Amino acid sequence: MTPQEAVAEASRCLGCADAPCIDGCPARNNIVKFIRQIAQENFRGAIRTVKESNVFAGTCAYICPVGESCEMKCGSKLDRPVKIGELQRFVAEYERENGFRKFKTLPPKNKKIGVIGAGPAGLSASFYLVCMGYEVEVFEAAELPGGILTYGIPENRLIPDVVKDEIEFIVQMGAKIKINSPVDDLNKFIDHYDAIFIGVGAYGSVKLKIPGEELEEVIQAQNYLKRRKIAVYNNQKPDIKLGSRVAVFGGGNTAIDAATCAKNDGSEDVKIYYRRSINDMPAFKDEIEYCKTLDIEIIEYMQPVSFQGENNKLKSVTIVKTKPGEVDQSGRQRPVMIEGSEFFIEIDSAIAAIGQLPTFENTDIVDVDKKGLILIDDETMKTSHPKIFAGGDAVNGGATVVKAVADGCKAAEGIDALIGKS
Ligand code: SF4
Repeated sequence: MTPQEAVAEASRCLGCADAPCIDGCPARNNIVKFIRQIAQENFRGAIRTVKESNVFAGTCAYICPVGESCEMKCGSKLDRPVKIGELQRFVAEYERENGFRKFKTLPPKNKKIGVIGAGPAGLSASFYLVCMGYEVEVFEAAELPGGILTYGIPENRLIPDVVKDEIEFIVQMGAKIKINSPVDDLNKFIDHYDAIFIGVGAYGSVKLKIPGEELEEVIQAQNYLKRRKIAVYNNQKPDIKLGSRVAVFGGGNTAIDAATCAKNDGSEDVKIYYRRSINDMPAFKDEIEYCKTLDIEIIEYMQPVSFQGENNKLKSVTIVKTKPGEVDQSGRQRPVMIEGSEFFIEIDSAIAAIGQLPTFENTDIVDVDKKGLILIDDETMKTSHPKIFAGGDAVNGGATVVKAVADGCKAAEGIDALIGKS
């Protein structure tokens, strides 16, 4: 958007008293205020308003499913929703081009917070805690900070430099990030800090558990996307070479990301097989549409039952058709395999993307649910441990980035409420 286009679009906003758009935003971004500031050509004020609840303003402006959140809510008020996402991207890009402005921080509280995981939740918590006057040290097990922003979401959805610049801003504000620093002994770690925030994500992958899954060309989507992004960061070719016929199994954004990357990296025939209906796919609707623009076919009511190989090389997959059964816990119809409907397809590579698993191990210190997700108090993000807070995918099993950012912000308020006055 040009400044003129941004002002014109912002001027369409009604400034609704009830502002349903804000209810549609997990970070409760003050959309009415930042759009009004754009309409007044106060672009600096607008980006500051966004960052008061979402320090990853630019990142989220690229990847938020606005059609299923803030803009969907706005649609009830106007013939066409205000382009909230594009307006947020406009002011975020304005700041990147004209220089980031630091936030004022409160006087030092002489208290130290340990943050485990430099993903969107951990870095969000770190930023708001630094603004509150805390000393913050962030421990990241990987080589680069950013978590799923760096190692997961492909560059066709999120420009790596946008993430780098927003992380650099958080470092400039005072958060100290230690990379290649996994926290092995949480008990010892706790003693060094007045409070802890855990934002370790959910990087485990749910296995298909079918014969032939051990074949080399059968890979997990998260692993493929991570190794691909590492190559992108090092300007190299990915070390995972996919064949021309690729089958992707799953219905979420990770499945779509894997399929679109495979296609963009040169695989001619890429198909997504999903065991429920397309309408039941958890992936963002915009991403499903993007698949169609790349001629990636999405085939519903299909489930893999085994892979066949020759000399340890993948040759084909046997698929069974499914039909919708009774409604399950997710509120969707459970897929039921149709006996005798098996058929096989010759493929060169298979990518499994059927779910994330939490990788948090210290389940003896904080309570977790039966899936291994950390249990928290929804208001404060506090865990069962008096000094430990948590948020992001480690708590919800895999939701949106803006939800992780919102968790981090809420946890910072929870920590400050607990130790800020003592
Ligand atoms: S719902 Fe739409 S018109 Fe109303 S305040 Fe939000 S962006 Fe503006």
